Amino acid sequence: MSASAKKINHLGIAVHKLEPALAFYRDQLGLPLDSIVDIEDRGLRVAFLKAGDVLVELLAPLREDSEISRFLETRGEGIHHICFEVPDILSSLSTLSENGVRVINTTPSVGAEGFPVAFLHPKSCNGVLVELLDPSSQ
Ligand code: ZN
Repeated sequence: MSASAKKINHLGIAVHKLEPALAFYRDQLGLPLDSIVDIEDRGLRVAFLKAGDVLVELLAPLREDSEISRFLETRGEGIHHICFEVPDILSSLSTLSENGVRVINTTPSVGAEGFPVAFLHPKSCNGVLVELLDPSSQ
């Protein structure tokens, strides 16, 4: 049994400030800006850009104790996580837990795109923070 991941939904990139990052990804690369969302409880301002049917998610801190502040302090700007779509996030999470994968969120929360999401520990994913997203339920 596996998590049955189907495709990459988005790549998360941690940035200090949104505008200078948009000046590259939107203005230099030419990726269309899809939306900008503030997630107050996680202290994040998130911009989604479209790269085909994959999104680039720029994550900037809204305050010093934001969810990505420690990442930015210790590792600087860069790729923060990769998000894969799964058809049934609850069964994926229980399958992965049973298989010994370290699941950070045993219950999904609602992500920036409005879909249920959960993270897997980088120690179980070859050093990459992996996010699962279930596009079928909202
Ligand atoms: Zn994400």
